Amino acid sequence: MDEEKLVSLFLELVRIDAVSLHERPVADFIKARLCARGLEAEEDDAARQLNGSAGNLIVRLPGEDKSRAPLLLLAHMDTVHPTAGVKPTLADGVLRSDGTTILGVDNRAGVTLILALIDELIERQLRHRSLEIVFTVGEELGMLGAMALDFSRLKAREGFVFDCTAVPGGYVASTPTAYDFKIRITGKPAHSAVAPEKGINALTMATHVMSGFPVGRVSDHSVANFGTIHGGTADNVVPDQVTLTGEFRSFREEEISVMRELLTSLCSAAGERWGGSCAPAFMLSFQGFQFGSEMPLVQRLHDAFARAGVTPQPLVYYGGSDANVFNQHGVRIINTGIGANAPHSTEEHIRPADMLKGYEILSHLIEAE
Ligand SMILES: [Zn+2]
Repeated sequence: MDEEKLVSLFLELVRIDAVSLHERPVADFIKARLCARGLEAEEDDAARQLNGSAGNLIVRLPGEDKSRAPLLLLAHMDTVHPTAGVKPTLADGVLRSDGTTILGVDNRAGVTLILALIDELIERQLRHRSLEIVFTVGEELGMLGAMALDFSRLKAREGFVFDCTAVPGGYVASTPTAYDFKIRITGKPAHSAVAPEKGINALTMATHVMSGFPVGRVSDHSVANFGTIHGGTADNVVPDQVTLTGEFRSFREEEISVMRELLTSLCSAAGERWGGSCAPAFMLSFQGFQFGSEMPLVQRLHDAFARAGVTPQPLVYYGGSDANVFNQHGVRIINTGIGANAPHSTEEHIRPADMLKGYEILSHLIEAE
């Protein structure tokens, strides 16, 4: 594999504009490319479930070890912002956009590595482990494609995703569990000047809840945030409806319980004090995980790093990715760094040298034993 080949495939991929739930052009690109190599990509019905333009793609590449469960490789097809009109430049060994659009490194760099690997395996008829490859949709909207995926279609129980900003060698070894919450607050409307005593101010109740609940980095293991607040109709009306949403994430189950209980008790206290109703609902956003160096999958990764000459750097990462959803479904997935820097911004950039190193690591990971 040479750098030039990876870069040209990457540039072809980033020039395809396909934001979340509009992945059809990139899905078709992948399908056509695989079809030309005699492979078929199954598409699931995530498009219908999510009202998107394409579903998740599943590709199977049988290897030497047909009796063994395949290894899963994963990347997501969507980008967070459009890449239409992207003008990539390569200077000083770094690929960037011209600053008016994102570059699309997240996650077309991951797609590039996997497609390049498939080419290589077929062209050179290399021995490899059986592979199951999944390209998901809607990752940037909160792993929607992975959540819609029918996991009974997969035989793989472990694998790797290439969707981490770290340089090659870095990988996500632990992530927190994350919850979203939504608090519906109901007061009573009244004219705020003519009959204020008849009203119950839902915004006042909201401030009670907000002032009692710490946000930001609330401990060494937890973060919390109020994200949106909606409510009220006019300056002279006592607001009777407010919806407050937010999230918290923690590496400690007990701290999650504390945050849940605190919000619940603040809500009921606000309801009692002002006579309205205030109730929180909690939704699991993703389940956390912790991968130790004793895990065979981690050892496989460390071996691949050693052979590629990079030092393993296990990372604690507060963000979620498709890896969380797959892990929740019993498919252990490690999110591995490919040097996709400053994702989601117009500063996005990647070093072709890192892409090549990522490729080298990937090619060791899939080797038949
Ligand atoms: Zn991503």
